[in-house]
Amino acid sequence: MKTEKKFETESQQLLDLMINSIYSEKEIFLRELLSNASDAIDKYRYLSLTESEKYPAKTHSIRIDVDKKARTIAITDNGIGMSLEDMEKNLGTIARSGSKEFMSKLEDAKEDMSIIGQFGVGFYSAFMVGDSVEVLSKPLGGEAHRFYSEGKSTYTVEDADFDGDSGTKVIVHLKPDTDDIKYSDYLETYRIEGLVKKYSDYIRYPIKMLVSVSKQDLDDEDKPIDGKYHDEIEDKTLNSMVPLWKKSVNDVKPEDLNEFYKSKFSDYEDPLFALNVHAEGLYTYESLLFIPSHVPYNFYSETYESGLSLYSRGIFIQDNYKDLIPNYLRFVKGLVDSDDFPLNVSREMLQKTPEMAKISKNIENKILAELKKTKKNDEEKYLKFFDMFGEHLKYGIYSSYGMKKDDLQDLLLFHHLNDDKLISLEDYVNGMDKKQKDIYFASGKTLAEIRALPQLEQKKKDGIDVLLLDKNIDEFCIMAMVNYKEKTFKDVSSEKEELSKEKKKELDQLTTDNKRILDNLKEGLNQKVDDVVFSAKLVDSPVCITTKDGLSMNAERVLNEEPGQHDDSIKSSKVLEINPEHALFKALQNVSSDEELRGYGSLLYDEAMLLQGYDIEDKAGFVSKLNELLIKAVNA
Ligand code: ADP
Repeated sequence: MKTEKKFETESQQLLDLMINSIYSEKEIFLRELLSNASDAIDKYRYLSLTESEKYPAKTHSIRIDVDKKARTIAITDNGIGMSLEDMEKNLGTIARSGSKEFMSKLEDAKEDMSIIGQFGVGFYSAFMVGDSVEVLSKPLGGEAHRFYSEGKSTYTVEDADFDGDSGTKVIVHLKPDTDDIKYSDYLETYRIEGLVKKYSDYIRYPIKMLVSVSKQDLDDEDKPIDGKYHDEIEDKTLNSMVPLWKKSVNDVKPEDLNEFYKSKFSDYEDPLFALNVHAEGLYTYESLLFIPSHVPYNFYSETYESGLSLYSRGIFIQDNYKDLIPNYLRFVKGLVDSDDFPLNVSREMLQKTPEMAKISKNIENKILAELKKTKKNDEEKYLKFFDMFGEHLKYGIYSSYGMKKDDLQDLLLFHHLNDDKLISLEDYVNGMDKKQKDIYFASGKTLAEIRALPQLEQKKKDGIDVLLLDKNIDEFCIMAMVNYKEKTFKDVSSEKEELSKEKKKELDQLTTDNKRILDNLKEGLNQKVDDVVFSAKLVDSPVCITTKDGLSMNAERVLNEEPGQHDDSIKSSKVLEINPEHALFKALQNVSSDEELRGYGSLLYDEAMLLQGYDIEDKAGFVSKLNELLIKAVNA
């Protein structure tokens, strides 16, 4: 007897959504139906373990059958099957709590339909490609029934026949082709094979389909005849069933990982790192993680998509899932598969699940542990890595306001004064003289410019090592860290300096004695500097510019180069330091005119700017002052 029933209101809404969905991922219907089939087999298998008398073990498989004439694609499983009540309950109402929440989310954000594509909403997705759907099902020892719906407000159920002792067959009657969408594509072997490979390759049961294959003809002695072929129908298993990441770690060779990486992430080179993680404990997941051996060509463009691929129970959900990995590790590629991810919730909801946060943290730790290990055991490899992606680790410290300092600080490398190699903070600190309290650094635009900084002169003379921060992120990273192993970072270009008592006394005396000179120079600089002082940093150069606590000149430059910073509004407070030992200062002492002294202020300032690799603001003024001096010198 055939009866007509109404869909539950929410199911009706979901149906409408599926039917009218205009987005491109209609193809996921197959993934959804195959995953339901796989679940149904899982349930049967569970019962055959727990109630083995009632549910005899059997060989399970899922079949895909196409009928091109009838325009149908059918998915058949020999799983648990459904009774009439099951059908009404499961297909007539939204069975899953996830789907329900999904619907309520959609109430708020009707426009964001794309999430359906990423988080299947199950059975109803069949209506994205089908104008009617039939479900034949039989539970073990029960009657078979047929559910039929055209996706309108009603469905019908009636008695039916079913081939086999238990299972379900879902028959999708494809919509007619339109100018835009060729639904009949889903009847083509290549298309189906492609979809199975893409989404359902790792379903644990064989997904079988009859396919026509071209075979070479054989002669009487069973030898292949050249150039002679015929078609044969073969029952082909379309999926490989065991995902690489589900195999025991010991069974997976490094070459397998490399091959997988190259095919999944379309790279021509083996990865620099390949990690195969099987985590068990509070959260269980498998993950394959890779660091490419070259910077992806579009890494710094907007087309680069970071994130890992997300799988749940071997079923592909989404590529480039950003919440699985912190942004500073955006160069890492890979996938995560966990039974703890619900397949059926919207993205916003998944983000908030504690599982996601925990697993993401766990993955981050695994990557950092591997990097630490490599840094220790394979310097060359680590340097290669650091050269490509090291700045991102520094960015990780900066962007977390130093919170990730403990995790990352020992992975960092910097250029330094004493040689051309990179040095870790640990090695720098180990190389410090007992008397040295702070970690010195000098920052600037290029290594050559930093090495030429006048404020390094005394350090060079004393053989004190200094970190050379040439990357824009370097100084900001160090500012976020504040210190390393209780040693404070100290900018050699900062005005303040630890001096011996004698040295301090000497400079104080000099300052008192030469107050007139300092004051006039400062006045001539017209607020460009906060101070003019005597320096203990210089050996050969006459002057340098340092900054008071706060922003350094390098940080000022970097911040003003940021997009959107036009007005150079960020200013460090600068100090002009004079080398009291330099002949230039001795000469200044002989200038009796205050007026003349004031004129020299800006010349000295500009000179220091040039020495430190910066532009001078008033180039014409600088040249005319220089000429004045030259003329005077030549005429004298
Ligand atoms: P989900 O599978 O995530 O629960 P669906 O909307 O896809 O959501 O399916 C609803 C319910 O219908 C399932 O929970 C299951 O009980 C039942 N069902 C769907 N497909 C099958 C099948 N092939 N065999 C047995 N039961 C099924």
